Amino acid sequence: MTQNQQAILDGLAALYPDAGPELHFTNPFETLVATILAAQCTDARVNQVTPALFRDYPDARAMAQAEPEDIFPYVKSCGFKSKAVNIVNASRMIMERFGGEVPSTLEELTQLPGVGRKTANVVLAFSFGIPAIPVDTHVFRVSNRLGLADALTVEETEQQLMALIPREQWSQAHHWMIYHGRRVCHSQKPDCAHCTLQPWCKAAHADRMINPKQEVKERARARKSIQA
Ligand code: SF4
Repeated sequence: MTQNQQAILDGLAALYPDAGPELHFTNPFETLVATILAAQCTDARVNQVTPALFRDYPDARAMAQAEPEDIFPYVKSCGFKSKAVNIVNASRMIMERFGGEVPSTLEELTQLPGVGRKTANVVLAFSFGIPAIPVDTHVFRVSNRLGLADALTVEETEQQLMALIPREQWSQAHHWMIYHGRRVCHSQKPDCAHCTLQPWCKAAHADRMINPKQEVKERARARKSIQA
């Protein structure tokens, strides 16, 4: 780890000592469902809909007996109908393959409909206490801007962050980057002028702002135009 990277991690820890999940959940099933709902939706919105949902469908057994049409009215403000379909189908698989309990390995979790690495890592980290770095859009952007990672995919970013950050800090470091992405290092208008990490930040000293999502899109466009 370089001195800059160490300074950045120390700076993030100092900025967000109480960083934690902003989604509300009390057990692995709720963590799983809330995280599925949070894709492309705000945590605040998810927190508005889950109390009624978990009151009426408190576990995988109850949810597995429902139809997506039963669930959609509860969650429609969180977006796509596919989320209701995935929640019901994931609950059915939990009942059929995992004895009604949310599984606790990455391999098993990612077999569930609608569950990718990020969602699985959230469940592992915050329901089972297994260190993980779920890479969402904020972690992807902020880690690559800061120079903690240098990658164009979330998978590569996750691998690089796990190699760099001490294992006991993985889950917390993920929260630090989400907090920083939401509060300071915004996607379109990062507030570099007021960012205390600016002295060590790679993007702040680059020719142009690093935006990994944008970079991926530009490269795909360039590839297409070469093939055309
Ligand atoms: S200096 Fe700018 S780009 Fe770097 S972390 Fe801070 S806000 Fe983001």
